[in-house]
Amino acid sequence: MASTKYIFVTGGVVSSLGKGIISSSIGKLLQARGYKITIQKFDPYINIDPGTLNPYEHGECYVTADGMETDLDLGHYERFTGIRTTRHNSMTTGRIYKAVIDKERSGEYLGHTIQVVPHITDEIKRRIKYLGDTEGYDFVITEIGGTIGDIESAPFLEAIRQMKWEMGRDAVCIHLTYVPYIKAADELKTKPTQHSVKELLANGIQPDILILRTEKHLDDHLRAKVAGFCNVDLECVIQSEDLPSIYEVPVNMQKQGLDAAIMRKMGIPVGETPQLGAWNRFLEMRHSATETVSIGLVGKYDLQDAYKSISESLSHAATYNNRKVNITFINSEQLEVPENPAWETLRSQDGLVICPGFGQRGIAGKVLAAKYARENDVPCFGICLGMQMMVIEFARDVLGYADADSTEINPRTANNVIDLMEEQKNVTQMGGTMRLGEYRCVIRKGSRALQAYGGREDICERHRHRYEFNNSYRDAFEQAGMQCVGINPDADLVEMVEIPSLRWYIGTQFHPEYSSTVLHPHPLFMDFIKAAISK
Ligand code: GLN
Repeated sequence: MASTKYIFVTGGVVSSLGKGIISSSIGKLLQARGYKITIQKFDPYINIDPGTLNPYEHGECYVTADGMETDLDLGHYERFTGIRTTRHNSMTTGRIYKAVIDKERSGEYLGHTIQVVPHITDEIKRRIKYLGDTEGYDFVITEIGGTIGDIESAPFLEAIRQMKWEMGRDAVCIHLTYVPYIKAADELKTKPTQHSVKELLANGIQPDILILRTEKHLDDHLRAKVAGFCNVDLECVIQSEDLPSIYEVPVNMQKQGLDAAIMRKMGIPVGETPQLGAWNRFLEMRHSATETVSIGLVGKYDLQDAYKSISESLSHAATYNNRKVNITFINSEQLEVPENPAWETLRSQDGLVICPGFGQRGIAGKVLAAKYARENDVPCFGICLGMQMMVIEFARDVLGYADADSTEINPRTANNVIDLMEEQKNVTQMGGTMRLGEYRCVIRKGSRALQAYGGREDICERHRHRYEFNNSYRDAFEQAGMQCVGINPDADLVEMVEIPSLRWYIGTQFHPEYSSTVLHPHPLFMDFIKAAISK
C-alpha cells in the first residue's frame, strides 16, 4: 500500500473489555489479507514502563526480544499475529513526558513554553507514526490503554483527533464499549455506550466502528439503535459476545465483517474474505480434544493475569498435544503450612510449573514444591525464579548445603548457589536495569532440553532477572546429577538445568513463555506437556 494506515482502538464504559484481544484480532485478520501490520500499546500512566509495577496492579510484565518491559497486551499481539514487538510498540505517558522534558533541557524548544498541546501531543503523534515511517507497515494498530473519560487519556485523544483530521480516511477509530444486561428487567442497555461515544465526540472524535462487548446476543434492532444514536453505519456496529476462549475472537470478528468494515471505511477494495487456515485448524484441535492434562502453577499471585504468558503457553502446547489443559493455581505460601489443602491439590497434578517472581514471600513453598516434584518424579518446569528454587532445593537436599540460598533471599548465606550477576553489582536504579531481552543459549548434546528443541543447539530466549546460577558450584551439581545443560556462550552463564534421571525436570533462567504463539507453540512447553501426559 502507498502509505501506512492507522487504526486506533479505544475503550469506554469500563476497563477489562478486552481491547488487547480485539486489537490482536484486527491484526490477525489484516494479516490474513496479506498486509504487513504491527500493533502498539499506549498506556496513560506515569511510570516509564510497567517493570516496577506489582502484578496486582498491572498483571504480568511482558518482555520484548529487545528487552523492553511492557504491558501484557503485547503478549497477546505476539501470540495472535506472530509479529515480534519492540520497545517502539509500548509507550507510556511517563516515557512521552520524559522525552519532551529531556528535549526541553537540551534546548530543542529554546524560547518556547512547553505545553501539553502541542508538545506532548506532537510527541505522541511522532511515536504513533514512528513504526509506520521506519518499518513501512501497511497498518499500524494503536491501542490506547484506560477508559475514555479518564483525565489521563486526554492528550492521547487529542493526538488521535489531529491524526484523523490530517489523514482523513487513512486513520480510523474503533471504540470498544460495554452493553450491560440488567437481569431484573431482562434488558440490555445501550445508554452507557451512547454516553461513551458522546465523550469521544466531546473530544472531537467520531468513532468509525463500534464493538459492543456483551454477555448476551444483541439483535439487529438494538444494533440499529446504537448505530442511529452514535452516527455509525449499521454494518460498523459489531458485537463481541463472551466466547469459550480468546482464540475464537478473530473468527467471530471476521464473521461479522469487522475487517471488511475497516477496509470500506479506509476506501480499500474489500475483495474476498480470506481463509484462516492454520488458525482454524488450531481451533478445531481445541474443540476435538476430550482428555485433559492438569498443570499446577506454583506461584504467589492468585490472579489470572499474573502468569498470563505461562497459562497461554501451556494452553497452546496442550492443544497441539490433543489435550485440554486444566490449570490450577497453587499458592506457594500455603504449601509452607504442612497439612494445608494446597498440598492435596499439588499432589493431584500431572505436572508442575514453578513460577517466576521476586522477593521473599512464598519462596519456601516453591522450594518445597521443587522437592516434591524431584522426589516423586512429577514433571516439573522451573521458570526463572522457579529454576533458582530448583537449584536451591537440590543444593540443600542433595548436596547437603543446608543454608544454600539466593542472595536475593539471604544476602549472608555461605552457600550462595544463586547470586547477584556481576554486571548488576553496581546498579542502583530499579527500573529497566535487569538482564532483559534476548540472549543466546547453547544446549548440551544428549540433553532432554536439546531433544525438546528438536536438536537446535544454539537458541535465543528472553530474560528478566538480576540473579544467576553461581558458577563455582557447577561441578558439584553436575557430579550429583543436576546438569547445567544450557549455557550463554558470551558470559558463561547457566541458562538451563535438568535432572536427566527424572521424567522431566528442567529449569530455565530465561522465560520461554514470552515466545510461544498460537501457530508456533514453544518447544519446551510442548515437551513438558508431552511428559505430563505420558504416565
Ligand atoms: N528474582 C529473580 C531474579 O531477579 C528471578 C526473577 C524472575 O523470576 N523473573 O533473578
